[in-house]
Amino acid sequence: MADLVFPVPAPVLVPVAGGGAFPVRRVYCVGRNYAEHIREMGNDEREPPFFFDKPADAVVVDGGAIAYPPQTEDFQHEIELVVAIGRDGAGIEEGATLEHVFGYAAGIDMTRRDLQAVAKKAGRPWTMAKGFDQSAPIGSIARADVIGHPARGAITLSVNGGERQRGDLADQIWGVAETIAFLSRLVTLRAGDLIMTGTPAGVSAVQPGDVLEGSIEGVGTVSTVIG
Ligand code: MN
Repeated sequence: MADLVFPVPAPVLVPVAGGGAFPVRRVYCVGRNYAEHIREMGNDEREPPFFFDKPADAVVVDGGAIAYPPQTEDFQHEIELVVAIGRDGAGIEEGATLEHVFGYAAGIDMTRRDLQAVAKKAGRPWTMAKGFDQSAPIGSIARADVIGHPARGAITLSVNGGERQRGDLADQIWGVAETIAFLSRLVTLRAGDLIMTGTPAGVSAVQPGDVLEGSIEGVGTVSTVIG
């Protein structure tokens, strides 16, 4: 093998509750995944889930400050259940999907909403709205063999102690099993992949100095400060 022309970047590691570290490979994100009101549509009327991604090094481990990013005046939080994949698989049958889950965490899909609006309007990629530096604060990963596979429970986010977002995992349009099955038909999932599964209502803009605290019942917490 040829000499490296510069050192390999250090892997991104997310702490695992109870010990250990989870090396991140890819970060997938699900688009809109919570109905704003009580579900009024039948299953056959649902739009298929869609995906975007963030680079692995966008992950910021729980408690770390994140910089207010450039090129935005509308920097918003999205609290999300994060699925941590622990076993490779492609074309995974829905009934077998949970065997591929190592654990779960609370994460925040930070978004430059104004750039996203421009991208949507122009039919352009969301990369610069979603996949910028430090755009994915993530809390410690709780092992599925300890907490199980949470299908319901409050998911909330507060800014400076005031609640902004509140939902319930049970209100996800596409649950974890369906999401994994769908995504694994598009790409091979590998151990180390994270899937951010969408956010409930209440997203809002933050400012430098704001303290964000997210929580998912039965899973864990995530916090960050906007620098
Ligand atoms: Mn999101």
